[in-house]
Amino acid sequence: MKIPTEPIGSIPRPAELIAAITSQTNGADLQKLYEKAINDTLNQFEKTGSPVITDGEQTKSSFATYPLEGLTDLSPEGMTINFEDGHSRQLPLLTKGPFRYGNYASKYLANAQKLTQTPIKQAIISASALSLIYPANGIEGYPQSEFMADLLNECEKDIRRCLDEGAYKVQMDFTEGRLSLKLDPSGGVLKHFIALNNQVFDRFTKEEQQKLGVHVCPGGDHDSTHSADIDYADFLPDLFDLHVGSFCLQLASEPDHVKVLKTIKQYLKPDQKAFIGVIDVLNPVIETAEQVRDRVLEAAQYIPLNQLGTTDDCGFSPFCDDTSTTRETAFAKIKARVEGTKLAEKELS
Ligand SMILES: [Zn+2]
Repeated sequence: MKIPTEPIGSIPRPAELIAAITSQTNGADLQKLYEKAINDTLNQFEKTGSPVITDGEQTKSSFATYPLEGLTDLSPEGMTINFEDGHSRQLPLLTKGPFRYGNYASKYLANAQKLTQTPIKQAIISASALSLIYPANGIEGYPQSEFMADLLNECEKDIRRCLDEGAYKVQMDFTEGRLSLKLDPSGGVLKHFIALNNQVFDRFTKEEQQKLGVHVCPGGDHDSTHSADIDYADFLPDLFDLHVGSFCLQLASEPDHVKVLKTIKQYLKPDQKAFIGVIDVLNPVIETAEQVRDRVLEAAQYIPLNQLGTTDDCGFSPFCDDTSTTRETAFAKIKARVEGTKLAEKELS
């Protein structure tokens, strides 16, 4: 039995690229550095043996903000996301309609496909995350209902373009799912987010939905999280109501694997696959292939083999300026995931 394995998305950017981005060097240099970073990322990704790769999001400002790149009708004072270590990230606010993406993820995919034959997974941001850029006190002449209609259309377009471009899989990043339970313990906001994202997924056929996935985690930035203290068991039952085929679930960094696996087993639907995180991306220690194998074997006690896959807990640096993990560490961890998953396959066949 083959156990599929795939990454989440981001790889730390090369130090010289981060330096150029943060010092705002001139455009020509930056473009060269971007190209070099993408080439090197695809190359190193292939060397890990990972059957599915990504472009490492080398040119995205972040997993969440790429659709906003180039837009001018934004102000900086949006929602703030607080991380455990005290740092925060802030979303912008929309100041004027109509809302259109400045940038679609298929652009990254098409670019990477020119440089490799290996199947590529493309991550996109959720409609629910971008719904947070609409200001609480509204926009004159652009009611929230109109914004939501535009947002759903744009999110659908973002996914459809990636499918048309031949993505191996399109993964919606839904890190605000678990976070929402911290902001609203009643679960009302979570249910609203799930319904919103399903409005996008329902525009795709059952066959297309099998090529769609969702990634969830407690956040991962500068080796810190925003919602690890929220019980996974309160979150997973609603999560599996999303109309997609794959779920990439952070697990390696959870304190109680068995409890989470039991919950997955209980709520995973027959047409859904659980890709469990076997690599802790926030821990600098590189897992051994044997450690990964044992994590897969543990999961196989709870999840039917034909519904089990492996992944990393999260992207390695979802925000472009995060230097907490080196590229060498990231690729070594991915190699351990691939090799450990193969070891488990042998053991289970
Ligand atoms: Zn994540």
